[in-house]
Amino acid sequence: MNTVTRPRILVVGAGFAGVECVRRLERQLTAQEADITLVTPFAYQLYLPLLPQVASGVLTPQSVAVSLRRSSKYRTRIIPGGAIGVDLKAKVCVVRTITDRIVNEPYDYIVLAPGSITRTFDIPGLTDHAFGMKTLAEAAYIRDHVISQLDLADASDDPAERASRLQFVVVGGGYAGTETAACLQRLTHAAVKRYPRLDPGLIKWHLIDIAPRLMPELGENLGRSAQEVLRRRGIEISLGVSIAKAGPEEVTFTDGRVIPTRTLIWTAGVVASPLIGTLGAETVKGRLAVTAEMCLPDHDGVFALGDAAAVPDLAKGQDGAVCPPTAQHAMRQGRHVADNVIAALRGQPRRPYVHKDLGLVVDLGGTDAVSKPLGVELRGLPAQAVARGYHWSALRTGVAKTRVMTNWLLNAVAGDDFVRTGFQARKPAKLKDFEYTDAYLSPEQVRAQVEGAGART
Ligand SMILES: Cc1cc2nc3c(=O)[nH]c(=O)nc-3n(C[C@H](O)[C@H](O)[C@H](O)COP(=O)(O)OP(=O)(O)OC[C@H]3O[C@@H](n4cnc5c(N)ncnc54)[C@H](O)[C@@H]3O)c2cc1C
Repeated sequence: MNTVTRPRILVVGAGFAGVECVRRLERQLTAQEADITLVTPFAYQLYLPLLPQVASGVLTPQSVAVSLRRSSKYRTRIIPGGAIGVDLKAKVCVVRTITDRIVNEPYDYIVLAPGSITRTFDIPGLTDHAFGMKTLAEAAYIRDHVISQLDLADASDDPAERASRLQFVVVGGGYAGTETAACLQRLTHAAVKRYPRLDPGLIKWHLIDIAPRLMPELGENLGRSAQEVLRRRGIEISLGVSIAKAGPEEVTFTDGRVIPTRTLIWTAGVVASPLIGTLGAETVKGRLAVTAEMCLPDHDGVFALGDAAAVPDLAKGQDGAVCPPTAQHAMRQGRHVADNVIAALRGQPRRPYVHKDLGLVVDLGGTDAVSKPLGVELRGLPAQAVARGYHWSALRTGVAKTRVMTNWLLNAVAGDDFVRTGFQARKPAKLKDFEYTDAYLSPEQVRAQVEGAGART
């Protein structure tokens, strides 16, 4: 018989929000006050903003995968798996472990931080032929894929095949897409020197967005500067344009152009994790509607934050404004929500989350960057110093900081080796395969699972 009577805190997701929350809980609560459990499919916290640098080979995958167990106060029980449904009434979270076992995990307090997935649209061929840039596997896969296009084009004598292998399309002019296009263009630009049979003029990168401007959050001047840097490097930017159709060897733009390509990278925004849909609760554009205290109204002990939740942005002072899906907010919300969970546990009042945006940093590779810390517009080297300094200091462990710094220095001195590892070759590479979007239960299935199996107590 289980005799444990301590309150059970269950945190779902080990990203920026979830890990910050767990670390704070571990520090602020004694082991006797509560049991802390974390559900996560991976044994690391992924530092997503540096993912384009993994794809381009500036950083190794391990350097952005920060260990969950490296902490002096570490004592959380980790369930290796993904939450596939939550029954708010029964207070049970249904988890699919990494061995595909379905487990019912009861809780007293639940913190939902499963982040977001790539937002797709009903565009023919899109989910079958596009890559995303949201997981470590995707970044590593894209790197191998891009290098293999160079290898295959180099080996081919067919001009049509060469042309389609050497054109690359990135959709999404937000910071994720812009950084991805910029970093990968640098990869192919540097790599082509090692392929003397290839005409560098055949390599072409396209960055397209349906919006009229790149990264509107940067403001007009900085956005234009970023655009100039990319154009100078030969990246063709098309604004007001999206994808009409995607196929294995070509992509059709909405302006009618047909681009022969085998590489379509889709970074056109994110939507909340499908886990949120299993709750049957109110959402705002797919994100769980929560109060400024990050609580779910009418459900005691349920908290949500980060990309998965629509947390009111009180600092904006506008009615209905919600915090943008950024790591900057997710980390701070993580610490804040931990304090609110502790307050709930101790019967104290919870505090609303307020944070004024500190700005944006955009690393375009090498010495190219644009940054806007605290409203100050920076370009080039100063912007790059701020961008890398910010990310470096935000890495959670000293070991991760050392790995990243060493990688940056090594890359600056020795460049890249353009090695195609082949680890992921011949594996399915669709968006849903990387982001497990078809793993979730419907609210009815959750209820049946919880009632049928009986919760573990
Ligand atoms: C390429 C790129 C560049 C970016 N650059 C910046 C930047 O420069 N600055 C910035 O502020 N933001 C940036 N962002 C956005 C930022 O990374 C996100 O806003 C942030 O990661 C959100 O934090 P989160 O904790 O909500 O989600 P995440 O960090 O995504 O963490 C969610 C975690 O939950 C796990 N998970 C998912 N589903 C489940 C489930 N069902 N059960 C259990 N666990 C689950 C995931 O594996 C993941 O570990 C960037 C994003 C991308 C993709």
